[in-house]
Amino acid sequence: MRRRLIVGNWKMHKTASEAAAFVHRLAELAPAVGATGSTERVEVVLAPPFTALHAAAQAAAPSFPFTLAAQNLFWEEHGAFTGEVSAPMLKDLGCQAVILGHSERRQLFGDRDEGINKKIRAALRHGLRPILCVGESLADREAGLTESVVTGQLAKCLDSLSADDLLKLTIAYEPVWAIGTGRAATVAQAAAVHETLRTVLATGWKREAGQQVRILYGGSVTPENAGAFLASPQIDGALIGGACLDPHSFATILALAQALPA
Ligand code: PEP
Repeated sequence: MRRRLIVGNWKMHKTASEAAAFVHRLAELAPAVGATGSTERVEVVLAPPFTALHAAAQAAAPSFPFTLAAQNLFWEEHGAFTGEVSAPMLKDLGCQAVILGHSERRQLFGDRDEGINKKIRAALRHGLRPILCVGESLADREAGLTESVVTGQLAKCLDSLSADDLLKLTIAYEPVWAIGTGRAATVAQAAAVHETLRTVLATGWKREAGQQVRILYGGSVTPENAGAFLASPQIDGALIGGACLDPHSFATILALAQALPA
């Protein structure tokens, strides 16, 4: 059984002091709504902006552990790359994971599959677990291209990675039309894409990759719809944007994940 994973992508929200307050509040609130700090069945990942990573790590309470993730990195280790942040820098701050290939990075900042592949390799070289986002646009979906778009992204982003590398990776299926729109995919739509991705992993790399890599759904997940996504055997967890910014709604989603049978 793959352990469920709930990722909160804070995007460009919260200062360092707001991050510390959020982490304290989450640890207080979570038990009240039924979420425990146990990571045995559900892993919790928080991905604050770069400037709040240290504060979030410092605010962590032993009673409510979480995995710290960054939202991006640059593939070089150091050098004349103004404004960029490298994998060793993130590792030194206590990060264990990094979100790569988010559709906002692709759409607004020109991230391409080939560069995302270099970022994944840099993350793996430095012991950061990549959370790779893939997803189709509304035009792609309406043109019947969902499968070819997401499998194409997967193939290019994972090019030349070994099966062992793959086992350290998480994939997030995030249809672009569902992100921040309030229009989530249906569970059936998400499950069908997850199934396709899993088949590509198993056939393109090896059976274990198809069985072990966690595939999350992301796109307008809320406390109201999270239970249905998380109950699907194809869906190993959720990547959450808007609903992760409020500690109560995020804690409610964690509690739903923890209440499901293993
Ligand atoms: C995201 O940022 O990856 C995301 C899924 O956002 P939202 O939950 O707001 O749709």
